[in-house]
This record gives sequence, structure tokens and C-alpha cells, in this order.
Amino acid sequence: MTISRRKFLTVGAAGIGGIVVAERAYDFFSESKVKAKIVIVGGGAAGITMAAYLSDKLRYDDIVIVEPNEIHHYQPGYTLIAADVFSPEEVLKPTENLIPRKVKWVKDSVVELAPDQNYVVTAQNGKISYDFLVLAPGCQMDFNQVEGVTKETLGEGNVHCIYDYQGAIKCRDAIKELTSQKEGRLVFTDTYTKLKCGGAPKKICLITEDYLKDNNRRNDFVIDYYANAEELMKPAVYGNRLQEIYDERGIGVHYKHRLVSVDTAAKKAVFQVLEKTTQGEVPLGEEQELVTVDYDLLHFTPPMGAPAFVKNSPLAITTGSLRHGGWAKVDQETLIQPDYPNIIILGDVAGTPASKTGAAIRMQAPVAAANLISIMEGKEPVAKYDGYSACPIVTEYGKVLMCEFGYDDKLLPTIPWLDPAVERGMWWMLKVHGLQPMYYHGMLKGLM
Ligand SMILES: Cc1cc2nc3c(=O)[nH]c(=O)nc-3n(C[C@H](O)[C@H](O)[C@H](O)COP(=O)(O)OP(=O)(O)OC[C@H]3O[C@@H](n4cnc5c(N)ncnc54)[C@H](O)[C@@H]3O)c2cc1C
Repeated sequence: MTISRRKFLTVGAAGIGGIVVAERAYDFFSESKVKAKIVIVGGGAAGITMAAYLSDKLRYDDIVIVEPNEIHHYQPGYTLIAADVFSPEEVLKPTENLIPRKVKWVKDSVVELAPDQNYVVTAQNGKISYDFLVLAPGCQMDFNQVEGVTKETLGEGNVHCIYDYQGAIKCRDAIKELTSQKEGRLVFTDTYTKLKCGGAPKKICLITEDYLKDNNRRNDFVIDYYANAEELMKPAVYGNRLQEIYDERGIGVHYKHRLVSVDTAAKKAVFQVLEKTTQGEVPLGEEQELVTVDYDLLHFTPPMGAPAFVKNSPLAITTGSLRHGGWAKVDQETLIQPDYPNIIILGDVAGTPASKTGAAIRMQAPVAAANLISIMEGKEPVAKYDGYSACPIVTEYGKVLMCEFGYDDKLLPTIPWLDPAVERGMWWMLKVHGLQPMYYHGMLKGLM
């Protein structure tokens, strides 16, 4: 019997995925007969996963999901679009195929939260009241906070960003185009706010470097990475390994730099050199030094925060470092809003110290659903989220450094006997062939 290469890889990745799932299986709750109206805001990774758990466990469910977009995006695939490993169409699915059958979809946007009155206001359908609210509208990317660029002008002046779907496609084309240039200076940046998939800016830098190497053009390009923080990644075991990789591959790393503006016509990027580096704590001070860097290709990361209707609501965090993004205040273990205990918050919008990834949502959703059902039944919420997040950093075509950690930078490796600071082909197989099926057929269905 012959087996195609793609099938072989998919089966292999499914095997690794099986280990991942088995390692992290939860069973916090059984079916409940409690009745209440639940409104879920946001039908992305977190909202749909919650809808799946809740509609499965509640016998008399009355669940509404408010989501404006007809097409759901598998965002972790954006990096692989830019790497020309996924086609752009591979990351898209109709939203209606993903929302559980028993859940009512209101195709609309929430524009206001009224937690004291237990309703949300939508753009087209007015007020929708609830007994319990699940807040999962993701995060907003504030492209305009970097002077000289907007989401609409991505690609102009060879400025790119894979955090945007069209941006990832343009970035793919720009990387390929490099091989037709004689030489060049490539500049990559991250940002000062908490961001979704903090590994993505590093992935695109390393992929570009590897692409040039594969095409025998590496020596014609100077590559620099400007980091806001004073390390490439936390926990240190991953940050140190990444620094070694950058050193081995001749990529310059400049810490404590924040991108403030870009002149796309002159191809110049202006960075502020920072004194104090804690994420989100650095004020934009006039007294601080500015440096201008010439570039031929710039990949930048926009500052990120909660969507405006969350930032402007009583749920927004107003003190400490998380106040910069206006993230939603939530208990980091139970995922319950401390001032409004009928509100559960998860996904990128949640103001926890956890890293914002789909992998985090896979661990948050069963906790959030179990605790919501406990509250509905008048019981104490006992399930706890340990801050687990995973970031598969593609270090080259065929290798991934799998970073898995929780609160307080605790290492939480799925396979504890493997050295975590080693890039591996098996994690590449999981990233390219396993995680997307696990996302659609496992996580979004509330099965893992
Ligand atoms: C380039 C990139 C690479 C990534 N790589 C990885 C990776 O390798 N591994 C990993 O685990 N994660 C990765 N992620 C992160 C992951 O995709 C996100 O953490 C995850 O999608 C967050 O889910 P969410 O539901 O909180 O937000 P989203 O998935 O963004 O969904 C939010 C939903 O809310 C809706 N919404 C917004 N505003 C409103 C409103 N006003 N009213 C109603 N609905 C609203 C939106 O339309 C959207 O559908 C990556 C992300 C990017 C962009």
C-alpha cells in the first residue's frame, strides 16, 4: 500500500496532536439543566469555542452569539501564508458552518456594554439583554499609532504586517520579490503593548532569513530586529535560545526600541530608544533619543488593545501596565469579571498576564464554561486557568521552537522529557499539518 507524503505528514501530526490533547484533557463538568439567557460577544476562536462547550453542556440553552463577520479566519495560518506554505484560502471558513446548530447568530457588532443593566447595544439590532455575558471580541490592532502607516496602506513603501490577512499576502509577495533585488536592508519590529501571538514578528524575521539562504541570497541582505523589550521572549529558556539563533544567523538584535513613525517615501523608520522596558509601561517622552533607520523592507507590529467598546466601558482596566490596552478586567484564574460576576471573559481581550494565543483559549474555554455553569447553578466556581499558552516559533522551513508556558513564566511543556530549547521537525509537522485540523475539529467543537 502506498501513502502520499501529505497524508503521511497529516497522520504523523495527528499522532503528535493526540499526545497534546491527551496531556491537556479536562473534565470539569457534566450536563446541566439550568435555564438562562447567555449572550456571547465575538464569534472568533474564543466565542465559538465557548458556544460549543455551553451548547453541549446546557440542556435548556438559550445562547446568542453576536458576530459581524461572515468569514472566520484561522489567524495562526497568516504566518504560513507569508511563508508561502498555506494558500490564503486555506485559512478561511464560513462563520455559519462553525457556530453550533443550537446557538442563535446575530450578525451584528456590539457598540456598547451596559453591565449594570445587563444588556449590550448593537449597531443594527439595538439592545440585547442577557442573564450571563461571555465577552470574547478579541483585540484591536491600532495601526494608526505608528505615524505614517495605516492598515489600508500596508505594502506601500515596502512596509508589511502579517497580523492582517491582506498584509500577510502582500508580505509573502514582498519576500519573494527580494530575490530579484541586488541587495537590501530588512528591518523587523515588535511593539510595546501586549500583543496576540508575540512570537509572530520573530517567526516572519526568521522565515525571511531562511528563504534568502535557500535562494543563495542571504549574504546580499542585512537583517535587523528591533525589540521593544530587553529580551526576545520570556521565559528565558526560549529567549536565550532565540538570541543564539539570531546570533548564529547574523541577524542584529536591538533591544529597547519602539517604532514611532515611518516615512514610506524615503524608506526610513524612526525608533524611540527606551530607558525603561517593561511592556506597556514606557511613556512616550520627548526627552528620549530617536534613531532613524533606512530600510528596503520593513515588517512592523502595530500596538494592540481591547476593542473601543470595551476600552470605553466600566470593564476596562484603568491601573497598572495593562491599562495601556484598555484590556478587560478579569480574575486570571476563574476568568470571571470581579465587579460583575455574571460576566465571563476569555481570549485576546482578557486582561490577564497570559500570552494571547489560540492555544491559551484551548485551556481557557473549558475553565470559563465550567465556572459559568457553576455560577448559573448558584455554586462556587472552582475551575482554574494556569495561564497556559503556546507559541510555535517557526525558526526555519521545517523547524519550530515550541514555547509553552504559564503564569509567572512557568514552563508547561506538553512533552516534559524533551529539551524545550530545541527546534524540532516534529513541531513543524504539528504546526503545518496538525494544529489547523485540531482547531476546526477539536477546539471549536468544544472537544479538547
Ligand atoms: C499572525 C498571527 C499569528 C498567530 N499565531 C498563532 C499561533 O501560532 N498559535 C496560536 O495559538 N495563536 C496564534 N495567533 C493568535 C490567535 O489567532 C488569537 O489569539 C486568537 O484568534 C484569539 O481569539 P479571540 O476569539 O480572542 O479573537 P479573534 O479570533 O480575533 O475573534 C474575535 C471576534 O470578535 C469579533 N468582534 C470584534 N469586535 C466585535 C464587536 N464589536 N461585536 C461583536 N463581535 C466583535 C471579531 O469579528 C472576531 O470574529 C496568531 C495570530 C496572528 C494574527
